[in-house]
Amino acid sequence: GTWSKLTAEADRTVSKKILSEIKAENIRKYLSDLTKQTHLAGTPADLGQAEELKTFWKAAGLDPVNIIPYNVLLSIPDKDNPNKIVLLNENDEAVFTSQLVEKVLRPEQNQSDVVPPFNAYSSPGTPKGDLIYVNYGRMQDFTWLKEEKGVDFTGKICIARYGKIFRGNKANLAEYFGCIGLILYSDPSDYAASSSSSGAPYPASWWLPPTGVQRGNVKMSSGGLGDPSSPGYPGIESAYRIYENETSLPTIPVHPISYGDAEEFLKQLSGEEAPEEWRGALPITYRLGPGLVNNGKIQMFISTHNVMRDTYNVMGIIRGSVEPDRYVMLGNHRDAWVFGAVDPSSGTAAMMEVARAMGKAYQEGWRPRRSIVFCSWAAEEYGILGSREWVEHYGKILGDRAVAYLNVDIAVQGNFTLRGRAMPMLFNVMRESAKHVDNPSTTEIAKGRTTVYDTWAANYPEKDSTGQATGRPKLPILGSGSDFAPFVGKVGVTCADIRYHYDDSLGISSYPLYHSVYETFHLVDTYMDPGFKLHAAVSQYWAELARNLADSYLLPFNVVDYAGAISDYVDRVEESFGELIRANGLGTSLAFLRDASEQFTKACEQFQNSLEDVNYENPIEVRRFNDQMMDLERAFIDPLGLPDRPLTRNVVFAPSKHNSYAGSSFPGITDAMFEIEKKSGVEKQEQWRLVHKQLATVTFFIETAAASLHPAT
Ligand code: GLU
Ligand code: ZN
Ligand code: ZN
Repeated sequence: GTWSKLTAEADRTVSKKILSEIKAENIRKYLSDLTKQTHLAGTPADLGQAEELKTFWKAAGLDPVNIIPYNVLLSIPDKDNPNKIVLLNENDEAVFTSQLVEKVLRPEQNQSDVVPPFNAYSSPGTPKGDLIYVNYGRMQDFTWLKEEKGVDFTGKICIARYGKIFRGNKANLAEYFGCIGLILYSDPSDYAASSSSSGAPYPASWWLPPTGVQRGNVKMSSGGLGDPSSPGYPGIESAYRIYENETSLPTIPVHPISYGDAEEFLKQLSGEEAPEEWRGALPITYRLGPGLVNNGKIQMFISTHNVMRDTYNVMGIIRGSVEPDRYVMLGNHRDAWVFGAVDPSSGTAAMMEVARAMGKAYQEGWRPRRSIVFCSWAAEEYGILGSREWVEHYGKILGDRAVAYLNVDIAVQGNFTLRGRAMPMLFNVMRESAKHVDNPSTTEIAKGRTTVYDTWAANYPEKDSTGQATGRPKLPILGSGSDFAPFVGKVGVTCADIRYHYDDSLGISSYPLYHSVYETFHLVDTYMDPGFKLHAAVSQYWAELARNLADSYLLPFNVVDYAGAISDYVDRVEESFGELIRANGLGTSLAFLRDASEQFTKACEQFQNSLEDVNYENPIEVRRFNDQMMDLERAFIDPLGLPDRPLTRNVVFAPSKHNSYAGSSFPGITDAMFEIEKKSGVEKQEQWRLVHKQLATVTFFIETAAASLHPAT
């Protein structure tokens, strides 16, 4: 149809060449190498792997390849003073202590540099108090305890199970509600599916054993604000650094434990029995607390502290032949909590194979029209630091030249289906590219499907507003949680995020061994992707998308899909808040918003139609249309930022304030409305003014975006 004519679908022979060059066994070999040692950000292994990758990319034909260091604030436990949580009896004697390290279950985990379980950016301290169970530690969980149960959190330590939302939001809420410490644990109901027939945990399966712990940062990154010591600016030598007490890092100790340990604390809880939905799968009666059966207390001993360290991005380029100053970027972070066989090295191995296959095509004469930039990011685990620092460093250039950013963090976290999330302009090319990648899966559910598109459409179907399947795959919007966030939130670059996913009906919050010492090559090779065919499919899809974006004469963007998305988001504002907004005298603002969306739809349709008449003989004309599409995303960047989030600047897409993993559309409006109910009197009037301002701001930016698509002459 039109799509292939407009993009010229570039050259299918090049596509076939690159795709068939991508080999599962190569990816397996890279992953085995990448996971022999731990490679935590800020350690010698961080630089070591950066140098190895540089050598690999140079050999693959990328030129130039550069290592770019940043000096950033990280966080580490104190080796001589291990973190622990202690159960005290009424005489203040320790009767149980949480494990200091995860138990070694297979020989390859037994390495001296494995960092013990900890939550990065926890405050150090030794708080002692009563314990309260707060379920998943979400806003609704804390609010329910406070309002329905009259719980006073002041001076209490709370224990929350991992899952549902980003752990940094849990820490932030615990602090906000007045707790003096937060313990996080992985409940078997969320990570070990003990009720299923799957039997024994790792090393017999991919399920979390009672000794496994999820590490992870607990900073409120709100879309990747980067290095805490240099907010808004890159952590380079000349940078101005703020004091530690000026950062917005947690002020309370936060520490993760296993479900083996959590059981010992939770079974001591006294107080009312927890409601049904709050109960996990441990063989105990879940109680809310506060207080312990033995009349004792809980004490946390946390010595985790902040340190300045160097960390390294690696950037490798295949230079564009016609438009070298237009960048199609592929990125993955390289740092891992421990061995990182899934997170992120599955993605690193996949990216290495894309680079090698493209490098080979280049050496054999392929010349992409635009530049292809491979990015290996530093210190993502600490809160998306490496990519954010780079985007802060080169934001101006990216604003002028970045076409798209394609992220793969974890390449394979399950065997159910390929999945993508993206900005609306990429929806079409995301679907079309998936049709060119063979279905790698041999599982029952994927049998008989020809391409990854077919499994995706079948296993993760899009539904229309009436709940009917459209026959197409679902493409949700981006939240945060990985390196695309700074591109979305700071510059306004069209982004996508890709991975092979498990079946949501498993009811798990991530793959079970996430951020634990058990995330090893053995896990991936034995259980998650034996044969590495799923990894190869992700590489192929990633390569196909990138090649299409780099080679198509006209960019394969679809602005009409953007209009559809904006109009959906306006519908959502109307459905959720329309009545309330009108009742408070802001009906006109809502009408302006609707008008703007209609104007935008018209502008997008006209623009998309005008692409039919582009004179392919006139490179300047082609470039002009391409620039209008590339710049459309920039039109939604407000230099003043979102309310209370000056460094998060996209008025259409932002990480949700209550769960930074999830995406929020029109975050300014959504956040302002969320606060309305909680306020009264003068404060409520002020809040309505903020709603008014947000409606007006979004309206203005949509109008500007529409204008940017009008004929440039
Ligand atoms: N991907 C990392 C995690 O989920 C970092 C995410 C963030 O800091 O936003 O722990
Ligand atoms: Zn990751
Ligand atoms: Zn991670």
